[in-house]
Amino acid sequence: MPNRISRRKFLGAASTVAVSSLSSRASGKSTLATATGQPPESSPPADRIVDMHVHFDEASPTFVSDLLKLCGSLNLTACVLTPFSSRKTVAEAARQHPSEIVPFGNVNLDARDAVQQVEEFHALGYRGLGELEFVKKPFNDPSYFPVYELANRYGWIVLFHTGIVLRAKFEEPEDVASGRMRPIHLEEIARRFPRITVLGAHCGNPEYEWAAEIARWNPNVFFDLSGSSLTKMRERLSDFRKIFWWSGSDWGTDTPKNDRSAYIKIVFGSDVKLSEIKSVVHQYQTMFDACDVPPQTRRMIMGGTLAKMLKLPG
Ligand SMILES: [Zn+2]
Repeated sequence: MPNRISRRKFLGAASTVAVSSLSSRASGKSTLATATGQPPESSPPADRIVDMHVHFDEASPTFVSDLLKLCGSLNLTACVLTPFSSRKTVAEAARQHPSEIVPFGNVNLDARDAVQQVEEFHALGYRGLGELEFVKKPFNDPSYFPVYELANRYGWIVLFHTGIVLRAKFEEPEDVASGRMRPIHLEEIARRFPRITVLGAHCGNPEYEWAAEIARWNPNVFFDLSGSSLTKMRERLSDFRKIFWWSGSDWGTDTPKNDRSAYIKIVFGSDVKLSEIKSVVHQYQTMFDACDVPPQTRRMIMGGTLAKMLKLPG
């Protein structure tokens, strides 16, 4: 397949923007200390980052050790989206490193044994599902409900791909369509299965408005901003103010820590290879600055919300 390009490779290239270093906020140094050139006597540890969107790389034999190194340097916890074939490897890594690795099961919704796969993921200690994608029917098709019923019973987080999806094959026919993965389909899932935390990857790119509106009304819906959106919108990041417009309003829906900022409906997700996660952290922080996201909301987006949902150990 000469023209094949992997999503990871594609997104990696897309996210390679000018990145000098993480901002002072992420490195744990105070802005004051940076400005005066005087490091504080003891730097507080950097705020914990929880990355909702780390795909397990079956091609890399050193993936787990590489990830653990990165977790140490960034104060990162990774939700590792794991193919069924690697379920035992990642379950064992998560057992040994519960502060760094949270196992998520990547199940093919169209597989005949999808329900059995989900039950096995659960028995192995998995904490949710994702990334669900490349579906043959729209996400809200009733044939997928048995999987959602199980996830609802478990009270799981389920990460759905939303919006435009890569084309893996250019020469051969492919049964793949972004229209089956529109953010609007998540609304029905969130309402029918209220114990699922419905997490949409890529904020519906480019249907950001639908994604945000569904998040506004549904306390169990959140989105990550992984993928090409933050790169595409790098010259107009303040446009996110128009999409997440309802800060300070009360919609009667619960939010983490009762935060009234509209941006509380975003969580951190990278969806890049490990060496590029730091650059996505920087992209998020650039967006925060462009939209004046309050400091306490930034901390929730970058890790607080997911740490609480997942009851992560310290
Ligand atoms: Zn995706």
